[in-house]
Amino acid sequence: MTQLRLYDTLAREKRAFEPADPGRVTMYVCGPTVYNRAHIGNARPFVVFDLLARLLRHLYPEREVILARNITDVDDKIIRAAADEGVDPSVVTARFEQLFQEDMAALGVHRPSIEPRATENIAAMIAMAQRLIQTGNAYEADGHVLFHVPSDPGYGALGRRDRDAMVAGARVEVATYQTDPADCVRGKPSPEGMIGWDSPWGRGRPGWHIECSAMIERHIGETIDIHAGGLDLIFPHHENELAQSRCAHGGAPLARYWLHNGFLSMAGAEKMSKSLGNVVTVGELLRQGHKGEVLRLALLSAHYRQPLEWSDQLVAQSKATLDRLYRSASNAERGDADPGVLDALADDLNTPLALSRLSGLADPPTLRASAALLGLLGQDALSWFQGEGDVRIDELVAARTAAKKARNFAEADRIRTELAGDGILLEDNAAGTTWRRA
Ligand SMILES: [Zn+2]
Repeated sequence: MTQLRLYDTLAREKRAFEPADPGRVTMYVCGPTVYNRAHIGNARPFVVFDLLARLLRHLYPEREVILARNITDVDDKIIRAAADEGVDPSVVTARFEQLFQEDMAALGVHRPSIEPRATENIAAMIAMAQRLIQTGNAYEADGHVLFHVPSDPGYGALGRRDRDAMVAGARVEVATYQTDPADCVRGKPSPEGMIGWDSPWGRGRPGWHIECSAMIERHIGETIDIHAGGLDLIFPHHENELAQSRCAHGGAPLARYWLHNGFLSMAGAEKMSKSLGNVVTVGELLRQGHKGEVLRLALLSAHYRQPLEWSDQLVAQSKATLDRLYRSASNAERGDADPGVLDALADDLNTPLALSRLSGLADPPTLRASAALLGLLGQDALSWFQGEGDVRIDELVAARTAAKKARNFAEADRIRTELAGDGILLEDNAAGTTWRRA
């Protein structure tokens, strides 16, 4: 069997992947905070780790592959967006969760096996916070629950930051209720009129970090095989998830492999940001007429741990590549995947190598099966090209009609032959000429 190797952020090296449970493989990807439309950089982890889930299902057909991806539907950004609109937070989260699902479907990202919402897992978060207080790893102060960083000697192993960087990165203003400036909030009070739940510490709402830890424990178990997300989540989010889960579970690790994808930048700009006005959403790209599969290929064109520069040229190249692959694959049924493509993907998801090997495949059934590993060539060639080039066809049909009128039958035949070469059949009738695809 092909051996999967994955780069583990915690170990700082590529490691052979062995699932812990012979019956199942478990994976958790930190999901979206649903208060705005996903930009193309937000979509990268979901496409990359969808690819990993597909690969795991291919490599372990006899095991259940469980992929969980949460929906963060309570957060200060959501509360602010709802207040700006004068609506309940649930109005904002329902709308953007729906748009997120549409974007993911367009990008060929499979629905995860489990999709827990934060607001439906509050009891699990409160229970974990209580346990952390009992073990001396957290404390209550002024209605807040905070994780006490100095109580955990293992804290900082994932991001390998020094203490000053961790204090700065805790991103909370050092408040009077903090025992240590690096301590991170797990829960905070909600004033009257704000979304909140009753807790042993008064009415409040959860902090982001405890959400994933509690949902992993409740829906999958104490230790999962793979925890994944963007590079920007290593600290403070994953560092805190890792620490609190380990402390709450008597030292059992949260995840056996930690995977992180690199950043996406816009060509010619340092980064994508609202202030620079260069934020490109998935929805906008789809509205411009780009196919979801083209965007998916563009997102997979660089190795997932490398930065990816997004540009119109990248999108155009991806479209041209897919057109070529669809022409080669035609309407063939799937055969067996090419071992070279599979080996490239099994080597820490080396998509650039896998794609270059894919382009060299001549046998249509092999090409289809190998592309399917990447979630590509998901339709038949006819529907892929449907609607494209119709303007050119209409123009040629009009030119042929004009040629016939001028009794230039040689030219009329030449146009008919040219169109037939592209699989376009013409039918002359009393009303004129219609065309259809062969
Ligand atoms: Zn998370």
